[in-house]
Amino acid sequence: MKNYLLTPGPTPVPPEALESMARPIIHHRTPQFQEILKEVEDNLKYVFQTTNPVLIFSSSGTGAMEGAVTSLLSPGDKAIVVRGGKFGERWGELCAAYGIEFIPVDVEWGKSVSPQEIKKILEAEGSRLKAVYVTLCETSTGVTTDIEALAKITKSSEAVLVVDAISALGAVPLKTDEWGIDVVVSGSQKGLMIPPGLAFVSLSEKAWKLAEESTLPKYYFNFKAYKKSIEKNDTPYTPAVNLIMALREVLKLIRKEGIDNLINRHRKNSKAVRDAVKALGLELFAPQAYSEAVTAVMVPEGVDGGKLVKTMRDKYGVAIAGGQSQLKGKIFRIATMGYITEDDLKKGFEVLEIVLAELGYKFEKSAGVKALERGLAS
Ligand SMILES: *Cc1c(COP(=O)(O)O)cnc(C)c1O
Repeated sequence: MKNYLLTPGPTPVPPEALESMARPIIHHRTPQFQEILKEVEDNLKYVFQTTNPVLIFSSSGTGAMEGAVTSLLSPGDKAIVVRGGKFGERWGELCAAYGIEFIPVDVEWGKSVSPQEIKKILEAEGSRLKAVYVTLCETSTGVTTDIEALAKITKSSEAVLVVDAISALGAVPLKTDEWGIDVVVSGSQKGLMIPPGLAFVSLSEKAWKLAEESTLPKYYFNFKAYKKSIEKNDTPYTPAVNLIMALREVLKLIRKEGIDNLINRHRKNSKAVRDAVKALGLELFAPQAYSEAVTAVMVPEGVDGGKLVKTMRDKYGVAIAGGQSQLKGKIFRIATMGYITEDDLKKGFEVLEIVLAELGYKFEKSAGVKALERGLAS
C-alpha cells in the first residue's frame, strides 16, 4: 500500500531532499560544509523575507519557541499571549515555565484575534510589557492571524511581536521585514518539506536589543551564540548535517518556483480543498479566518471522527489529522502545505468520499472530487 501524507506536519519530502540525506556525511567544521551553510542561510533569508540572520537549531519547532522566550525576556518582564488553539497555549506554557507573567488573550477556537484588543492592552500596560506572542497559522484550528495588522500596532509600542510561523512559513503570506515582524519562528517538517528536526528563528533589530538585555536562564537556545556563529557560516554546536543537506535541496526548489508562486499555489490548492469540502455538504471549522496551510472541517453529525481518520489511514493509506484537545472527534484537518501535490489531494478526497460513505454519511457521489479538480484546474 502506498502511503499518502496529508497531515499538517510532518509533510511529504521531495526525492531531491531524501536523496541528499543518503549521501555520505561530511564534517561540519570544513569549508565544504560552510559553503552549504552559507547557501542555506541566504535562501532562508529569502523565504523568511528578511535581511536579518536566520538562526538554525537542531530541534523541533518548539525548541526555537522556547528560545523566543528565554533569549528575549528577563525576570519581571510581562508578555501578552494569544491563545486560540493548542499552539497559542504553548506560548503560555513556555512563559509559565520560566516565570514570565503574561496576559492571556483567549480567542474562541476557530476565530482569530482582534488586533484592536491587543492594542488596548499594550496601551494600558506600558513599558513592562515586552513581547506579544502569537501564532500565524494556528494548526490545531486552521485559523490565520492578521499579522500585518498586529505588526503595525507593536511597531509603535515597546513590545516585540513574536510569531509562531512553524506551519505557515512557505504556505501563507509572511513579509517579515516589510510588515515589521520582530521575531519569526519556524520548523522544518511543514511548509519547508523536510523531516522533523530543524527549527529556525529570525530577529529584527528591535528584538536583538531585547535579546542583548535578556537575563532569563538559557544555554542551548541562546540566540546570541547562534548569531555570532552564523555570521561566520558556522554553528555553535554540531548541526544536523544531513537535515541541512536536505534543506539546501528544498530551498533550491523554493527559489526556483519563486516565493510568490509558492504562496499562490497554496492559495489555489487550499481554495480547491474548501470548495470540495462544501461540495460534500460539509462545514468548514473556520470559514472566515481559514488558513492556506491546513483546512479544518467539522465532522458531520452521526459520523465518528476518530474512526474516519483511522479508516482513511489504516485501510486506504491516506493520513489526515483529527482534532486535538477540545476538538478531538469534532474536526478533521487536511493539509495543503509544502510538497503535498494536486495528485495527493485528489487521492485524499477520493478516499475521504469512500470512507464517509462507509460511515453512513449521505452526499452526492464524486461531488467533492469534482469540485477539487475544478479548483485545481482554475
Ligand atoms: C507543528 C507546530 C508546532 C510544534 O512544532 P514541533 O516541531 O512539533 O515542536 C508549533 N506551532 C505550530 C503552529 C505548529 O504547527
